[in-house]
Amino acid sequence: MTKEYKMWINGKWVKAESGKTYPVFNPATEEEIAQIPSGGKAEVDKAVEAARKAFPVWSKKSQLERSQICLKIAAALKEHHDELAALDVMEHGTPAKRADFIAADLPEWFEWAAYSARQLMGQTVPNSPDELDYLQREPVGVVAIITPWNYPLLMIVEKLAPALVVGNTCMIKPPSIDALTAFKLAEILDTIGLTPGTVNVITGPGGTVGGALASHRGVDMVAFTGSCEVGKEIMALGSPTLKRCQLELGGKNPVIILDDADIETAAAEMAPAQFRNSGQVCASPGRFFVHEKVYDKFLEKFIEATKKMTVGDPTDWKTMIGPVVSKTHRDTVEGYIKSAVDEGAKVIFGAKRPTAPPFNKGYWIMPTIITGVKQNMKVAREEIFGPVAVFMEPFRSDEEVIQKANDTTFGLAAYVWTTDAARGMRFVNELQAGTVTVGNVHGRDLDLPWGGYKESGIGKEHSQVGLYEYTNLKRVQIDIKMLKK
Ligand code: NAD
Repeated sequence: MTKEYKMWINGKWVKAESGKTYPVFNPATEEEIAQIPSGGKAEVDKAVEAARKAFPVWSKKSQLERSQICLKIAAALKEHHDELAALDVMEHGTPAKRADFIAADLPEWFEWAAYSARQLMGQTVPNSPDELDYLQREPVGVVAIITPWNYPLLMIVEKLAPALVVGNTCMIKPPSIDALTAFKLAEILDTIGLTPGTVNVITGPGGTVGGALASHRGVDMVAFTGSCEVGKEIMALGSPTLKRCQLELGGKNPVIILDDADIETAAAEMAPAQFRNSGQVCASPGRFFVHEKVYDKFLEKFIEATKKMTVGDPTDWKTMIGPVVSKTHRDTVEGYIKSAVDEGAKVIFGAKRPTAPPFNKGYWIMPTIITGVKQNMKVAREEIFGPVAVFMEPFRSDEEVIQKANDTTFGLAAYVWTTDAARGMRFVNELQAGTVTVGNVHGRDLDLPWGGYKESGIGKEHSQVGLYEYTNLKRVQIDIKMLKK
């Protein structure tokens, strides 16, 4: 049944001034599940005014108090775990088991932010005996958080928790097609007792609401996760007011399988990394480079591992891969598969649309493997953001693969598989990416900085480094001799 939602601005639940709403659909069933307010500049202006008013109240609270409030938010998120997971399944098609895992992860971001911010100390600089010189960190001000649909609530929380805890007030512009979990978050925040305007949620078209936020004089910072194209647009919109932009953008991440790699483990790990969330992950492998000596073996094992990934109804706990997010996105991904074939590559697995129930409704693409891809082909150069593994032609030497892996405008992540430490270190040093892994790593995301090189982004999130992004660093110099009292 369709539910009509309202935006949360200045602590009140409001419709769009235009009265307009738009529908959103369950991607597994194509059923309309909600009507969302189509906000615009009027709502952005109101929210910015409210956030500016709330800023002195929120930013002047002690760090202890803000951290304690963030812990309250974490506790409230835990209470609403099941509803948040169910919404994720319904609006995004996230398989239930995975949605459960993601919902359990959300409170941890607020807990991490609460504890990390308590360590946000300044620094004294012993520069001159007659001066007190020190550095202090202050919140940036009003932060616009603009996020993509691939992990609808996680992407918001990863920004909201650090931005809020250090004293910023926030405007959230959730993805247009996956906004239901953001409304649930607003409902949860509404129970916490924040000063109205401390956090606001505004929905509507990206170009309208996102654009108005990115260009607004009253917004001090834009924290954005999304495509490279929109990231560049946001930077341009923010430039007249020299807005701080933290941009987490797309990836075309090389997976490099060297001839001495543990092939079984590499294939078993990289297939789920590719197809999880139907490949709609910025960190997903974008290009597989496999040494010619192990190419056939790795491909065989990769296909075996792919076959183990059950595609199906997202409400079923056994499902590992659900639909892609929308009809438009399915068309885009299928367009990429077609372009690969037109340019001479080979589809060796998947690609067909399943039609038998439950697949007769919904936006399904079976996990797909394409081989024989050359550097200049579209599928090697652009982010597909779908369940499509792109196998480049086999390589022969380390020099060749380093050059090819770096021959891209992206620089988000790179995954190297070798059992030779010295060889692994050479790749670590030469690959141009914000994250490089060697072998089978599973370190916790929130403790390690994340962010891209080149056109994959500017700035970092997660860890203490990410927390700093939401602060200004003030240099203070006081002439102690002149102070009379
Ligand atoms: P998108 O860039 O189309 O949209 C992201 C957000 O920007 C949405 O809320 C959208 O409504 C808004 N938007 C659209 N046009 C705008 C404009 N002109 N001005 C301001 N805001 C605007 O991205 P998407 O399709 O939702 O998400 C997929 C992309 O996100 C992929 O490129 C993926 O790699 C990237 N991503 C990156 C990371 C990372 O950490 N680097 C994480 C997740 C997703």
